[in-house]
Amino acid sequence: MARVTQEAVEAALRGVVDPGSGRPISDEGLVSNLVVRDGNVGFVMEVPADRGHAYEPVRKAAEDAIRALPGVLSSSVVMTAHRDQDAPAQPAGGIDGVKAIVAVASGKGGVGKSTTAANLALALAAAGRRVVFLDADIYGPSAPRLFGLTGKPETDGTLLYPKLAHGIATMSIGLLIGEDQPMVWRGPMVQSALEQMLRQVAWGEADIMIVDLPPGTGDIQLSLTQRTPLAGAVIVSTPQDLSLIDARKGLNMFRKVDVPILGIVENMSYFACPACGHRTEVFAHGGAKQEAARLGVPFLGEIPLDIRIRETSDNGLPIVAAEPGGHLANAYQEVASAVLESLPGARPQGPRIVIE
Ligand code: ADP
Repeated sequence: MARVTQEAVEAALRGVVDPGSGRPISDEGLVSNLVVRDGNVGFVMEVPADRGHAYEPVRKAAEDAIRALPGVLSSSVVMTAHRDQDAPAQPAGGIDGVKAIVAVASGKGGVGKSTTAANLALALAAAGRRVVFLDADIYGPSAPRLFGLTGKPETDGTLLYPKLAHGIATMSIGLLIGEDQPMVWRGPMVQSALEQMLRQVAWGEADIMIVDLPPGTGDIQLSLTQRTPLAGAVIVSTPQDLSLIDARKGLNMFRKVDVPILGIVENMSYFACPACGHRTEVFAHGGAKQEAARLGVPFLGEIPLDIRIRETSDNGLPIVAAEPGGHLANAYQEVASAVLESLPGARPQGPRIVIE
């Protein structure tokens, strides 16, 4: 099949009209960061901040016009609202109503970062904190699957409304463009999508925002950590030496930008046989703990390798919500307590009640 070209896409976009001026959106400077790769097309549509609602049909028309071209496999247009030139620039600061932002990071993919982030969020909520969740893993969003969320988020034209997942307000790029859409985005598109998900979402009041970062220590992670005042970072690692080396990279990245490391979680730490209860150290268990001690950062706890953790995540009800009080939920609950310990600002005000 013929491959779609940049020129063909630009020609198609000349047929999509800006309702404000009656002129093609491409002439109005609304099209930026156009990417055409292997039949996958995407661009960012920048619209005035107060007109977001009015432009939703235009965004859709642009997506449809691209999709109608021969050779197009996918089409995604992401709308971002920019402020007037004259209006004061929005500083890259905290998020109104959110007291502490905690990033969950890993040196590489597949170590269980997203699973840990989701269960940590649920465990913090179970410990009485108001928690919101941002899935910033732009290349592999997993919050919709982990939390069983479907459908696009609602919008009032200016703000996106997060979806409630077991009491936790959640936003994910996967909700905006579908999990199966290939990501053909370039750095700047990712940047503006992330900014929008952070700052143009009606998060409400929260004690803690958990941000599930993309794996690794690339530019996206770096700029997010630079532009957002993080209360701290949690590093997820498996016990294998290799990923520990990767975890070290993560630590260094946060240190470079002066983000406090709240600690390391060892995931897939050991295997408890469901039949006989025998505990097998599949990998060199304890590696993360030693490494944390060596690096002088807190060790936040260990999560076993357990089929129930995977099954419950795939079913949209992570283990902390599926089996509260169970030994696996308790493992995450311990991590949550350790995170709260490392996060002085998030401790509850008023007296601590101890029940003996
Ligand atoms: P990452 O975000 O690091 O890429 P995920 O959280 O998506 O990793 O986890 C990768 C896979 O491993 C998923 O299928 C998940 O269900 C599974 N998984 C994660 N942690 C555990 C665990 N402790 N026990 C069993 N399976 C796990």
